[in-house]
Amino acid sequence: MVPPKQSNTIDFDAAKLQRLAAQEPRQRTGRPLDLLELRQQLNLQLQVSLEAERILAVFFSEIQRLLPVDYLAYQHTGADLRLEFGDSAQHSADYRLIHDSEYLGELCFRRRQRFAEAELAQLESLMACLLYPLRNALLYRAAVQSALRDALTGTGNRIAMDQALTREVEVARRHLQPLSVLMLDLDHFKQINDRHGHSIGDDALRAVAAAIKASLRNVDMVFRFGGEEFLVLLSNTSGSAAAHVGERLRRAVEELDLVIDGKPLPLSISLGCASLNAGESVDDLLRRADNALYEAKRDGRNRLACAS
Ligand code: GH3
Ligand code: MG
Ligand code: MG
Repeated sequence: MVPPKQSNTIDFDAAKLQRLAAQEPRQRTGRPLDLLELRQQLNLQLQVSLEAERILAVFFSEIQRLLPVDYLAYQHTGADLRLEFGDSAQHSADYRLIHDSEYLGELCFRRRQRFAEAELAQLESLMACLLYPLRNALLYRAAVQSALRDALTGTGNRIAMDQALTREVEVARRHLQPLSVLMLDLDHFKQINDRHGHSIGDDALRAVAAAIKASLRNVDMVFRFGGEEFLVLLSNTSGSAAAHVGERLRRAVEELDLVIDGKPLPLSISLGCASLNAGESVDDLLRRADNALYEAKRDGRNRLACAS
């Protein structure tokens, strides 16, 4: 007879609850934590997430147990991160975080009373607990972002596009909002590669992607659909508004002044515009946009056509 398999399961949530329960009597006495205790607890608690937002929310809440702070802001421009907690107040303490010459962002603490020197020393000691969790969170964020970006143009890739389409179509259906897409394709791009080489072709693709992003409010909604094709997803946008946006993009690309070997390299795009019909699948929406794009090509290129 096969012996019954013994399974050892640990419920991490329950284990955590027990750990916290063990600490509880001490907290209930109201005795404030000292710096060392708080640092030890922070070192554990800041490990709970790889999300910068969650890590800083825990940090902001936990430091209150030693010294009251009304507001915390964190920003890291390169990582496109700006987070705020609490309510802003008059007195501030600002820190630029650097470790091993790696920039980790900026923290701004604010509160109504002035910070005493001893408190600033405590704050700095507590901030040391943030170092590795924050560095890991930034690495994680960069990894997630690069998994969703097209390396050449910096636009979203197909994975990001599929996720965004599913999400936005769902939102449009739930809130009965319009949703439109623009499918766009560089005109006669093969000739550019053939005449000037693939690397100049890549430069042209990058320049077009940059022009599109610069002309849009929500740059996170531009995706590289294929070789020299992009998809722009316009949530809460009607067909006529999307056609206006498309026309703006067409002009922006036409007005690009890329110079190759001292000579201007004219570029243009053709666009197909389609708006989501009731009950329509994402595939059908994209097919209609693609058909409209084909129509724009057939009618002479450097123009926009709308799906019926
Ligand atoms: P049309 O106006 O009908 O769209 O003509 P086209 O020449 O743009 O279209 P076609 O489909 O014949 O050629 C697309 C070209 O795009 C062929 C391919 O080599 C090029 N291409 C696709 N991806 C890249 C890329 O990442 N870099 C470069 N340099 N070229 C690319
Ligand atoms: Mg093309
Ligand atoms: Mg193409």
